Amino acid sequence: MASTLYLRQLECGPMQNFVYLIGDPTTRQAAVVDPAWDISGIVQAAAEDGYTLTKVLITHTHQDHTGGQLFGYHIPGVVELLQQYDVPVYVHQSEAHVLKDIPPSSKVPTRNGQVIEVGKQVAITLLHTPGHTPGSQCFLVQNRLIAGDTLFIGSCGRVDLPNSSPEDMYHSLTNVLMRLDDDTVLYPGHNYAWKPSSTIGEERRHNPYVQFTSLHDFLRAMGY
Ligand SMILES: [Zn+2]
Repeated sequence: MASTLYLRQLECGPMQNFVYLIGDPTTRQAAVVDPAWDISGIVQAAAEDGYTLTKVLITHTHQDHTGGQLFGYHIPGVVELLQQYDVPVYVHQSEAHVLKDIPPSSKVPTRNGQVIEVGKQVAITLLHTPGHTPGSQCFLVQNRLIAGDTLFIGSCGRVDLPNSSPEDMYHSLTNVLMRLDDDTVLYPGHNYAWKPSSTIGEERRHNPYVQFTSLHDFLRAMGY
């Protein structure tokens, strides 16, 4: 049977960000998740594999995932990608305003449960998972989860940042991501672990951040 999904993981930049290409092998169209740091490398990787980029999907609007100014340094990102590919940028509705350098006509504000199609046979379901940021979203495609900075292998995203919420993180981990099937493959937003992917079942068993049975215990462990 011909493959029904193209998924490529690329590590970019000094913060070990993972960028993903999600495509339809029959139409050779692909969405790019969190393009930043090495735009020419990302474009080249897609071209090497014979794919045209037709969409940008944003897990959350931190500069290491979207580009912009960080610690006085300019990270190339979505703006630079749009100079080569005039494609829509899907960003959660509660964070769309953060991407100030992207023209409103290029932004598509998203909501929980929305389905985005790539090519003809790839459907990506958006899961709103606030906590690390208010508009963090994960992308579920077939049995793969592109988790951004919500769930990492053996840990979760930081919740001590200005717009984070440990309460929301607890809810997102417990009531959204841990309800996915055990065999769902986890693709995190950074290469922080000893391997590049995991499964929800493995995290359910071994990730200390998803072992709490109450919000109270989670908050206490996180230092609140
Ligand atoms: Zn982040």
